[in-house]
Amino acid sequence: MIATILIIGAGQAGAQAIDTLRREGFKGRLVLVGDEPHLPYQRPPLSKKFLSGDMPAERLPFRHQSFYDDHGVELKLGVSALKCDPAARRVTLSTGETVDYDRLLLCLGADSRRLTCPGADLAGVHYLRGIADVPAIQAGLKPGARVVVIGGGYIGLETAATARTRGCTVHVLEMADRVMNRVVAANVSEYFAHEHRTQGVKIVCNTRVVRLEGNGRVERVVCAEGDSYETDLLIVGVGAIANTQIAREAGLACDNGIVVDEYCRTSDPAIYAAGDCTYHPSLRFDQRVRLESVDNAFEQAKTAALNMLDRPTVHDRVPWFWSDQFDNKLLIVGLSQGHDQQVTRGDPATRSFTVCYLKGGELLAVEAINHSKDYMAARKLIAERARPNLDKLADPTVALKDSC
Ligand SMILES: Cc1cc2nc3c(=O)[nH]c(=O)nc-3n(C[C@H](O)[C@H](O)[C@H](O)COP(=O)(O)OP(=O)(O)OC[C@H]3O[C@@H](n4cnc5c(N)ncnc54)[C@H](O)[C@@H]3O)c2cc1C
Repeated sequence: MIATILIIGAGQAGAQAIDTLRREGFKGRLVLVGDEPHLPYQRPPLSKKFLSGDMPAERLPFRHQSFYDDHGVELKLGVSALKCDPAARRVTLSTGETVDYDRLLLCLGADSRRLTCPGADLAGVHYLRGIADVPAIQAGLKPGARVVVIGGGYIGLETAATARTRGCTVHVLEMADRVMNRVVAANVSEYFAHEHRTQGVKIVCNTRVVRLEGNGRVERVVCAEGDSYETDLLIVGVGAIANTQIAREAGLACDNGIVVDEYCRTSDPAIYAAGDCTYHPSLRFDQRVRLESVDNAFEQAKTAALNMLDRPTVHDRVPWFWSDQFDNKLLIVGLSQGHDQQVTRGDPATRSFTVCYLKGGELLAVEAINHSKDYMAARKLIAERARPNLDKLADPTVALKDSC
C-alpha cells in the first residue's frame, strides 16, 4: 500500500504532481518539501513581467495556501532535503527531521551555471533563477543605468529586453557568433538580434568574458579581445545545471540530470523524478534529453504522479517552449537536432514567420515567430510524424495544417 508520497522540490513539477495525485484520488500522506520559502510559483515572469514590475507578486504562485490546506498537503517550505537513504526509504531534512516514504518524487529543478573567471565572486554579479534573485536586479534597473548581460540565450535576452524597457543602457555579450545559437535557426537569431538592436540593445557576439573588475563590487567586464564594458548592473545568463546532488549521493543513476525511464522512474523503483532535473527519453525523437521548460515539468510531473499510483503511463510528448522579448513571441515545438532540411515560411521583415525542420521528409520541429497558428498546427503534425508537401510548406498563404 502507498501510505506516504514525498515530493522534494516545490516548483513547477512539484506543484503539478500534488495536483494530479489528489485529483486522481490519492488519499494518503502527501508531503512537499521546498528549500525556497515561497509557495510553488511560476518562474517565467521572473525575467519578463514580474521583473519589469508589470505583474504583482501575488500572481506568481500557482495556488494559494488554502489549496494545500484543503487538499491535506504537508508543506515544508524553506526546508532542504539533505540526504536520501533508498534502502530505508527515508529522507533527512535540514530541520533534522526525517520523512519515511513509500514513493519519492524528485523535482529538484536546475540552478544557474556560475561564472568561474577572475572576479566572478565580486559583489553585484547577479543570476536569475528564483524570486530571491529579483529585488537586487530590479533595484538596479533605473533609467540610464549601465546594464551588462553576459549570455545571449533566452534568459539573457528576455532580461535585456526588460532592462531596456526600463530605460537602461544595455549590452549583451555573447561568446557564440549569434544569439540563441544552440536553440534556433540562424535567421531567427538574426531576427531577434535585429529586434533588440532596433530597441537600442547593443549585442556583441564572438566575445569571451575573461575577467570582472571592481573595488569589492563589479564595475567592469573585460573580454579576451581587450574590450571592456563599465557596468552598474551585471546579470549572468549562461545556462543552468540540473540539481542532482542528493540523487547522486543516494546512488541513483545520473548523467546530464537524473536518469529516468519513460515512466519517470529512476534507477530505484520507489523513486521518480520530473522536470528540469531529469535526463529522460524522448520517444518521438528517439534520444535522451534534458529540457528546461514549463511544459516538460508539467507533463512529466503528471506522468510521474500516475505511475507512482501504479497506473502505468508513458511520457511521450512533443516538447514545446516559449520566449517573450519586447513584443515578440517565439514558440518552439519539437527538437531540430538531426534535421536534413530547413524551410522558412514567410518573410522576417513582416515580423511574423516560421522556420520548419524536416528529416527524411518528416516534420521534426518548428520555430514560430509571432505566429501562434503555425505553432498550434505544428504540435499536431510533429506528433503525427506528418510529411508536408515542400511547396505548400514554403508557401505562407497555405496554412501549415494544410501542407500535408
Ligand atoms: C527566469 C526564468 C524564465 C523562464 N522562462 C521560461 C519560459 O518563458 N518558458 C518556459 O517554458 N520555461 C521558462 N523557464 C523554465 C521553467 O521555469 C522551468 O523549466 C520550470 O520551472 C521547471 O520546473 P521544475 O519543477 O523542474 O523546477 P523548478 O521550478 O526550478 O523547481 C525546483 C525547486 O526545487 C528546489 N530544490 C532543489 N533542490 C532541493 C532540495 N534538496 N531540497 C528542497 N528543495 C530543493 C529548488 O530550489 C526549486 O524551488 C524559465 C526559467 C527561469 C529561471
